[in-house]
Formats: sequence, structure tokens, C-alpha cells
Amino acid sequence: MSVVTRFAPSPTGKLHIGSVRTALFSWLYARRHRGEFLLRIEDTDRQRSTEEATQLIFDSMSWLGLEYNRKPVFQSQRLESYRAKASELVEAGKAYYCTCTKERLDAIRADAIAKNLKPRYDNKCRNLGLKPTTGTLYTIRFRNPMDGTVVVDDMVQGRVDYQNAELDDLIIIRTDGTPTYNFAVVVDEIDMGCTHVIRGDDHLNNTPRQINLFHAFGKPVPVFGHVPMILSPEGRKLSKRENEASVLEWRSEGYLPEAVLNYLVRLGWSHGDQELFSVKEMIENFDVKKIHRSPASLDHKKFQWINHQHMMKLSPAKAIKLAVPFFKERGIEVDDSERSQQIFEAQQSRSHTLLEFVEKSVYFFSDVKEYDEKAAAKHLTSKSKPLLAELRQSLASLPDWNSSAIHAKISEIVQEREIGFGAIAQPVRIALTGSTVSPGIDVTIELVGREIVLQRMDFAIEWIDKRSG
Ligand code: GLU
Repeated sequence: MSVVTRFAPSPTGKLHIGSVRTALFSWLYARRHRGEFLLRIEDTDRQRSTEEATQLIFDSMSWLGLEYNRKPVFQSQRLESYRAKASELVEAGKAYYCTCTKERLDAIRADAIAKNLKPRYDNKCRNLGLKPTTGTLYTIRFRNPMDGTVVVDDMVQGRVDYQNAELDDLIIIRTDGTPTYNFAVVVDEIDMGCTHVIRGDDHLNNTPRQINLFHAFGKPVPVFGHVPMILSPEGRKLSKRENEASVLEWRSEGYLPEAVLNYLVRLGWSHGDQELFSVKEMIENFDVKKIHRSPASLDHKKFQWINHQHMMKLSPAKAIKLAVPFFKERGIEVDDSERSQQIFEAQQSRSHTLLEFVEKSVYFFSDVKEYDEKAAAKHLTSKSKPLLAELRQSLASLPDWNSSAIHAKISEIVQEREIGFGAIAQPVRIALTGSTVSPGIDVTIELVGREIVLQRMDFAIEWIDKRSG
């Protein structure tokens, strides 16, 4: 039987890190077994579901490359199917109409709580054989078996037993005709042919109810895998802010999709002591049995490190393509020329993220508007002025414009004047970049380009003159 997995988010807010990780695990499982991975939007809660959140799900999946094999299923478009399936269960005597009012159910609940008992439905309508009549509000309840054990043979958690005596008769269709979560999910898993359900362990306790529903429909029960939650870096429950961090925020912070997948897969899954995975390696090595049973903690440092490692593998052409929108946001047009690519190569090992690359490279593509005040005061002085002037003249007439010729020229001046390399490199660096941070000065000079280098050095010399009045 071929594997079919699914990701079933509710579009009620941002797509949380934990959800994306379960999507990734489901996707990997399907890819690993050459099966299908499906997307289902659980939007029956019309009050809380929004189109914006649905779009966010699509955008996140597409950015991460978690492509699904069929058109997404929207629960809100399947209400008729759920009602029909519920009627089928009623006809088979496996579900029944219940006319208990909210007030009655609230009273039963309050009573149980007062007696320190677990609230449960008292089965008042279970054997009344009620028929729906117009004008009367009713729900449909599942006739849960009264005894026996439901075994969840979980791929991650191992075997977990539940007693039917603990489970009451679940409402499957509400008074307004909408299905409840546990019912809709089972109807969908059956219709979509899902063979494996990988999801957060907050749903483990729903699973025995769902298993009973699969049995009631006479359908095979999927294999379940309940994945532990993700904790904060300090090992606590995620704070609202951390939990609401969406993967698309990582995109705007300059993380690479493959690094995000690598980071997420390592949160709670391991393959020996390997830390770095290409997407292909993840697929080849993914084994659900290696998902950890205990929760994993976020680790921003590790995320940065992983992203850096993936930045190091990025081809310059691809890096520039990915960086263009970040430059654009800053009003800078960058093309995919050889020069742009060389600039990335010069910055690659110094950039943990695309954003860091862009922020550190602005001066290659646009004017230097101001100098770092402290650095300028220290290095742009009457002492460095003659060095700048001499180098400026030499650069103006340098026959070959490349970093080694530039390096040789600087070395010549340094040797002649018996000064350290930095005595000339730092003033030039400030003149060209505005600060004391850049790749090697020879490479920086080459990539800024002769014409601009000369302009910026002239400007720095003037600046020194003005300063020293
Ligand atoms: N919509 C549910 C959630 O977002 C999905 C649960 C499931 O995967 O069955 O928690």
C-alpha cells in the first residue's frame, strides 16, 4: 500500500514553528517512502479562520519547498460530506440524535466538577432513538463503545492504552450542522486515503476517539506518530512571542529555506551525530523511529550556525538572486552580474544570513553617506592623508585592476614608508565603506571599482582637510 501523509493546519493565525516541523516530518515520510503528501486546511471554525492565514500557509509551504501532491482540501467546502457520513452512522445505529440543551449539559458539567469527577455526557439520549424534528435543536453523538481498550500503537510514543469507559459519547455534528474536529478529521483521512498521521502530541488524547470512529466506518486505522512539542531555549513552554514566530519571519531575517528545514528536522530528530543535511539527505535518512520522545528546545545559536553552513554552500548566482529583494527593500538595484557574484563570494564566509550579507554589502552598490564617527576620527587624519593621496595616485594609473595588483601596490607603499599594512588599509576602508569592517582591502578596492574608489578617496581627503580646517 502506498504511503499517504498529510498536513492539516487550522488557518487561524501564523504558521507556528511546531506546525511546520510536523509538516516537514510528514513530507519527509511521504518522500522517503515514495508516497504522497497532502494539504488539508481545517477551516470549519469560520469565526477564527481567515484568508490571510490560509495564504500564509501556502506561502510558507512554497517558500520551504514542501510541495503537496494534490489540490489542497478545504474542510469548509466539505460540510455536506460530513453530514452525510454522520447520517450513515446514525442509520447504522452507531450514532444518535441528542436533544440535550446547553443548559442541561452545563449543569451536568458543573455537577461533575463540584464532585471532583471528570465531566462526561450521561448518555441520556443514547437509547431514545430520537428523530430530528423541525424546530428542535439537536446534535449528533457518536455511540462510543462502553468497554474495552483502545490501543494507540504510536510510531513515536510507543503503545498507549485508553479505556473506552473513560470516553463519553462525542458530539460529531453540532446544533448548527458543522462537524466537530475529531469527526471531520476521520472522514477526511478516509476520503483522502491517509495511511500515516504525523502531528503534535497535543492530539494524542483525541486519537482513541478517532480510532473508534475509524472502526465504526469499518475502515483501516492510519498509523499515528505524535511528535513532542518544541520548548523555548530555556526549556520552558514557548512564550507567546516565540510561539507566534512564523517561518516567514525567518525569511525576512535572511534565513535560507534549506537551513530552516535542516534546523527543524534536527529539533527532535537525529541521524547519528550528523548536524548538517541537504534536503536530499534528509529524505534518504528520515526514520520516524528516530524522532525523540522528549521535547526539543529552540537554539538560536545553532540555527545561525546551520544557516551559515548553508550560506557557505550557496552558489553566488543563487545567492544574488535571493538577495535582490533585500537590496530592493533598501532602494538598491542589484543585477546578477559577475561583479555582484564576486561581492557575494567576498562576503560569503562573513555572512550568517542573506540579510547580514546585504547589510554588510550596501556600500558596494550605493553611495557611502556617512562615516562611522569614531573610526573616522581615529583613522582619517592629517597623518593618513598623504598615504591616501599616494595610493589614490597609484590606483588611478594601475595597469591591471585586480586584487593582486592592488595588493602589490599597497605593499610597495607600506614597505617604502616602513609602516604597518593597517596604517593604510584602515583609512582606505573607511573612505570606501564608511566603517572598519569589510573583506580584505585589496578585494574591497577591486570590487568597489576604480572610478568610485577614486571619488571616495578624493572625498575622504577633502573631509580630512575640512576637519583639520
Ligand atoms: N488542525 C489541527 C491543528 O492544527 C490538526 C490536527 C491534526 O493534524 O489532526 O492542530
